[in-house]
Formats: sequence, C-alpha cells, structure tokens
Amino acid sequence: MSKHILTFIETLNAGPLQKILLTHGHPDHIGALEQIRVHRAVPVYVHRNEIPFMEGKQPYPGRKKAKELVKSGVSLPLKETIDGLGLESMGNLKPYYTPGHSPGHVVYYHHQDQILIGGDLFSSNSRGLKRPIPIFTADMKQAILSGQIVKELKPRLLSICHGFDVPQPHLHYDQFAEKWLTQYS
Ligand SMILES: [Zn+2]
Ligand SMILES: [Zn+2]
Repeated sequence: MSKHILTFIETLNAGPLQKILLTHGHPDHIGALEQIRVHRAVPVYVHRNEIPFMEGKQPYPGRKKAKELVKSGVSLPLKETIDGLGLESMGNLKPYYTPGHSPGHVVYYHHQDQILIGGDLFSSNSRGLKRPIPIFTADMKQAILSGQIVKELKPRLLSICHGFDVPQPHLHYDQFAEKWLTQYS
C-alpha cells in the first residue's frame, strides 16, 4: 500500500510527508512503513509501551513468539506532557492513550474537525460500534473501558480501521459498554 499512500499524500497538496503517527504496531497497520521510509525517511511516532512489542523484544500479549515488525530505533516514543497526565500534540493531532487492544494503543483527535482517528479501539458495522477484533485484542475489558474516550471528546466522527466511520460515537457508547463489560468482567 505504500505507493498508494504516497500518491494520496501528493493529491492532498499539503506539502511533503513530515512524520508518521501510529495508533499501534500490529502488522496490518505498519506493513507499508518500511517502503514509505525508503522514499522518505521521516520519523515514526508511537506510544512508548508499544515499542518493545513492535521491535520483537517481547511477544504481543496472547502471542507465542516475539516478532521484529519494525527495526530497533525506527519508532520514537510520543512525548508526554509536562504534567505527565497526557501526550503532547503532534501538529493538529492530539494523541490519547487507549490501551487494551494492544499495550500501547493510542487514538488521535483533530479538535478543529472533531474527527477521532481510532485505529483498532473499536471495530464497527453499519449499525455502529463493535468491540475490536477479539483474536488480536490483548485485554478486551481494558479496550472497552479505553473506549470511554469518545464520551470525553464527543467527536463528530470516529474513523476506525476495520469497519465504517461512526458519526457521534459517544451517543452509542453506554449501550455498547453495557453489552460487553458484563461478558469481560
Ligand atoms: Zn490491531
Ligand atoms: Zn487492525
């Protein structure tokens, strides 16, 4: 997908790619990384708790073997805010730590457009929120609780990787959590 991604960036007319922000390090989210960096060696940011798993120092929870998905030193940790309570904005995107699907999962919020880039915090169908894909989720209860971020931010639109975009996800969260938390408590 690297070619497609690079071509798409050009069509945006927003200048050259400067950095890459990852929600987490699962292979389906970073497969194009190496090829993109062949063309533009930009820095890559991810939550520090994700790095040992991506670099193959530790197996992802629930996996038998550690696997080097990204070479050591390529991924840089997102900076914490001075008060230590959150993560520093990267341009117009503010990262929020939402562990559960993976140990260092984050989502990115664009305040101006009110769009939340949710990675695998949820999946969805045409009716709305669904839990993230169980076999790839490290701690489902924690993932569902991390989903509360939509109630805090109240985005106009939640964009996720596996499924449809969900308008106003905060309106559906309580029903979603009630359904799943009883199963995972
Ligand atoms: Zn994932
Ligand atoms: Zn995924």
